[in-house]
Amino acid sequence: MKKIGVLALQGAFLEHERAVSAAGAEAFEIRNSAGLRREMDGLILPGGESTVMGKLLRELGLFEPLRTQILEGLPVFGTCAGLILLAQEITGERPYLGTMGITAVRNAYGRQLGSFECAAEFAECGEIPMRFIRAPYIAQVERRVTVLAEVEGRIVAAREGRQLVTAFHPELCENTAVHRYFLEMCGR
Ligand code: GLN
Repeated sequence: MKKIGVLALQGAFLEHERAVSAAGAEAFEIRNSAGLRREMDGLILPGGESTVMGKLLRELGLFEPLRTQILEGLPVFGTCAGLILLAQEITGERPYLGTMGITAVRNAYGRQLGSFECAAEFAECGEIPMRFIRAPYIAQVERRVTVLAEVEGRIVAAREGRQLVTAFHPELCENTAVHRYFLEMCGR
């Protein structure tokens, strides 16, 4: 069974653990550098608050090792705040890990429209439910990045090599298509 580490410093990590199990893999929590050194087939950066997660990553000494592992090819899936952590650019702010060729716009839908649900096409999986919570969107992608989903003309999911990001929260829906898609990326 594939083993997926879920960064468990803050945010919606429990929901990802459940989704990973439902998609047929084993999840474990990463809270420190020992956790990051465990053998894993892939890593999930959950939704939450990117500013807080970025700060904790630095304080716990996880920032550089995590960045190195991603650049060395560890498959990674960032949702929402996780997408922001991976973006090489964040409009008006300094980037965090910056490993993926996307430009993220934070809290892009305004306070009123901060949370909503819809259904849209995702990659080759067909239409899936998407839940957005004070979500970012992707304003721009480098040529090496593949767009996997758009909602109202805005990019909400993308892939670059073994890095996958969604602005929405597949872990909060019953549908496991996105987690299964990620597990395929974590091929042995
Ligand atoms: N607004 C959050 C941020 O900027 C992201 C929200 C989420 O992860 N649900 O980090």
